[in-house]
Amino acid sequence: MLVVMQHDASAADVEDVCRTIVEMGYEARPLPGAQRTAVGLVGNDGRVDASRIEGMAGVAQVIHVTQPYKQVSREWRPENTLVEIAPGVVFGGRDVPVIAGPCSVESEEQILDAAHAVKAAGATALRGGAFKPRSSPYSFQGMGRRGLELLDLARRKTGLAIITEALDVEGASLVAEYADCIQIGARNMQNYSLLRAVGRLRKPVMIKRGPSATITELLLSAEYVLAEGNDQVILCERGLRSFDPLTRNLFDLTAIPVVHRLSHLPIVADPSHGTGLRDKVAPMASAAVAAGADGLMIEVHPRPDRALSDGAQSLYPAQFDELMKQLHAVALAVGRQITPVGAGNVAVSIG
Ligand code: PEP
Ligand code: MN
Repeated sequence: MLVVMQHDASAADVEDVCRTIVEMGYEARPLPGAQRTAVGLVGNDGRVDASRIEGMAGVAQVIHVTQPYKQVSREWRPENTLVEIAPGVVFGGRDVPVIAGPCSVESEEQILDAAHAVKAAGATALRGGAFKPRSSPYSFQGMGRRGLELLDLARRKTGLAIITEALDVEGASLVAEYADCIQIGARNMQNYSLLRAVGRLRKPVMIKRGPSATITELLLSAEYVLAEGNDQVILCERGLRSFDPLTRNLFDLTAIPVVHRLSHLPIVADPSHGTGLRDKVAPMASAAVAAGADGLMIEVHPRPDRALSDGAQSLYPAQFDELMKQLHAVALAVGRQITPVGAGNVAVSIG
């Protein structure tokens, strides 16, 4: 339930509403907004009797949130949430940041080559897994802490923001020490203890949609993070398991406008996992920007033929460079712009 206050409601009116909500046995979350102040009620599992609140001083309207998720809904917050993972790298506004890099961090040379290449092409964030969720226990599992240190080195050399995956609760705080944004992988979308843990870390989080998850389930997963007090959440569409073996996944472009209607959180598209095929990445990346994606995540490897994971869907640096040129044009055509490099990047060390 959401209690919308009148424009001229006093601070005491807002406090009275909060106190009453607590007396009723729920939690009150004051939500000062650009156009209105509202007080959210959380802790209910069903419709709340609003009669005590409706007549209170300063109350304009009581809205019953109809979805099973609350704090992620547009009813709860009509304006887009902006998630700034590093100075100038903002998701949810007019600008569209591009995150690029290899599937996994494999060596110092590999991650630095990748970072320099994607930066030169216009990316503003670097991806790369140090802890990898692999279908087989015998596949490369990532470099662990050393991988995080190499990402940090790449950030210092290029100024790119860093996004990397946390696999479990124990590893989440370690990842948070290095990452500008913590990635929750598709397989972990419904790992609720991990979602709660990253909700408490006060770092931006990107949640990838599970390969068989509905959009409602994705939004409920985000609700876990917001329920812990962290609203810095980016959603990511990365393709669904389908009946058709011609692509690795079925990239659900529709999720982008559907999420925009239902939620104030930004949604990023990952056409690399979404298609699994190098030559399908560019058309789907352009389509995602045209459909309103708030960012892109694209796998780029300096030598994809030698990649330890996801080489078949990783772009060669020259292909990524070409794609970025296309993306600038597509973004302009829909009233957006690809986030420019250097918009406020972190300090760059030379050497
Ligand atoms: C990845 O980003 O490399 C990854 C493992 O993605 P997903 O969780 O979407 O499979
Ligand atoms: Mn990958």
